[in-house]
Amino acid sequence: MEIKQKIENLRTELREHNYNYYVLDNATISDFEFDMKLKELQALEAKHPEFYDASSPTLRVGGTITKNFETVVHEHRMYSLDNSYSKEDLEDWEKRIQKILGDAQVEFTCELKYDGASISITYENGLLVRGLTRGDGFQGDDVTSNIKTIRSVPLQLKGDYPPKFDIRGEIVLPFEGFAKMNQERIENGEDPYMNPRNTASGSLKLQDSALVAERPLDCLLYSIVGVNLGIESQFQMLEKARSFGFKVPKAATLCKTTDEVLEFIEYWDKHRHELPYETDGVVIKVNSIQHQEELGYTSKSPRWAMAYKFKAEQVSTVLNEITYQVGRTGAITPVANLKPVLLAGTTVKRASLHNADQIEKLDIREGDTVFVEKGGEIIPKIVGVDFTKRPIHSQPTQYIDHCPECNTPLERSEGDAKHYCPNEYGCPPQITGRIQHYISRKAMDIEGLGGETVELLFKEGLIENYADLYLLTKEQLIPLERMAEKSAENLVKGVAESVKIPFERVLFALGIRFVGETVAKKLARAYKNIDGLMMATVEELMSVDEIGQRIAESVVSFFRNGINIEIISRLREYGVQFEVSADKLENQTDILKGQTFVVSGVFENLGRDELKKLIEDNGGKVGSSISSKTSYLVAGDKMGPSKRTKAESLGVPIISEADFLNML
Ligand code: AMP
Ligand code: ZN
Repeated sequence: MEIKQKIENLRTELREHNYNYYVLDNATISDFEFDMKLKELQALEAKHPEFYDASSPTLRVGGTITKNFETVVHEHRMYSLDNSYSKEDLEDWEKRIQKILGDAQVEFTCELKYDGASISITYENGLLVRGLTRGDGFQGDDVTSNIKTIRSVPLQLKGDYPPKFDIRGEIVLPFEGFAKMNQERIENGEDPYMNPRNTASGSLKLQDSALVAERPLDCLLYSIVGVNLGIESQFQMLEKARSFGFKVPKAATLCKTTDEVLEFIEYWDKHRHELPYETDGVVIKVNSIQHQEELGYTSKSPRWAMAYKFKAEQVSTVLNEITYQVGRTGAITPVANLKPVLLAGTTVKRASLHNADQIEKLDIREGDTVFVEKGGEIIPKIVGVDFTKRPIHSQPTQYIDHCPECNTPLERSEGDAKHYCPNEYGCPPQITGRIQHYISRKAMDIEGLGGETVELLFKEGLIENYADLYLLTKEQLIPLERMAEKSAENLVKGVAESVKIPFERVLFALGIRFVGETVAKKLARAYKNIDGLMMATVEELMSVDEIGQRIAESVVSFFRNGINIEIISRLREYGVQFEVSADKLENQTDILKGQTFVVSGVFENLGRDELKKLIEDNGGKVGSSISSKTSYLVAGDKMGPSKRTKAESLGVPIISEADFLNML
């Protein structure tokens, strides 16, 4: 009885914190405390499976694998929306409605149109029982275990909810999280995702729900459907949904007149870029449910609602040439070279064409006048061709089938949109790309050597891989273009100095696919030296915290390659660090495991970098900004007041340098 009570108290408490943080955006405890409580609950649940609860907050971390998503019929059909693109379209719609409703006073609820993946979630007796994608509107895929990992989706409701209903909403990936995911992918040598919307809908179909749990997805709700709900208006529906614990954006506004509707649209057309997620328009809904029932549905959409699509910022210009870039990993990216044009405040000269399929689908050709848009992506994209302006002798684009840099036939693996040049060790941009990565600031940080010089050295036949850098002499360098005696000296010195760079950064510098900075640190910590790592099997690697199969396989294949083995043995000969240094080993502990620190200000005894190193050496993480994930803020002199306020508001403990040293 006592254990059961304890488990239940923890669940209630964690649910509340989840709600405060993810729905209200207002955390009341630190992430560290949250994690501790969650761990406690996990341990208790593991020991007492008899108290299993399908809505326990521990289920947020995922773990279920779905092989095939089951198709399930929607109890209430999921309709589309009619679109309008102008004020006139909207006014016509309002006139049509008014005609059907007679002289009744019609009010509207205006909402933002979130751009993500639609979802319908069923709740029974306050518990989440099922989440379905929209599918064709009649039936969708059962993605329940994935939906449960999204923190802003309540597993258990609050307040006075109806016994059974479906709630509809949109799963979105906010810009910030999207950018972070892409940054990590780029660092790991993977292709970035194209846009937040596709990534959000792709996430719902991942088979491993633990991977979904890692994605910063959010769920914004806009409609409750069911029978005998006792709801009289759309606006009231939103308020009710909010009171049950759902995340309903505050932008929704009750508009009493058509003018107010237009004001809402104008306001958000200007301010939509300030929102944390993508929107592509506004949805205007007749407010009264009774009016909605009178208006009913066409074969595909409600007559009582209308989407108004914002105009994307778009211009047209001439596509002069399509060129192809080869990345460090061999991936080919087609690039549109445009006649420069002004778009959303910046001059655009190039746009991404993504891949061969995209070019074929839009039938984009050199010489075409194309429409260029700035969407959620950072790089502008081509959305279509102005066929009226196509030159007479225009020819369809032939996508390249050989590498533009080394002429090797390109490969394309099944299910991959991109072409790759497989000539890993003979293709110039792949070779120089790897060397550039090796010397970069976060890797070997070689002073006196930059990306362009790497290209020059390669062109001159002086280097073919990063081990060759260590054989360069001043005499070889001085005759080169723009290379004075002093800069040649600096370069040689910079290379020689790099043998002091610690093992974990060397490991990152090697450029193993999917091994970013963080993974390199984890591997260095787990294996201590390269010999152990080179012998490791996929299974062994996967037993290391946070190392998944994809990374493990990539590591094993890297170290099985004869060329890599030889380069590593040469680097070792030149003195590059291939083991964790003895004093580092001695000073390494796990005292701070699981804790994240933010360091700010100036300290009396330690430099800022020393402090950070101490944190990492003892198993802690260093965070860059304060969030509810921060366990402690280590505050020195001259720390900005905003940091303090933020820490205080999130309940992050603020400690001094001395407090920190005491922890060790
Ligand atoms: P469409 O896909 O163009 O037919 O637009 C309909 C879709 O818009 C719906 O399936 C929803 O997923 C999405 N949507 C986004 N925001 C809203 C909103 N506030 N109200 C209704 N639907 C919305
Ligand atoms: Zn090539």
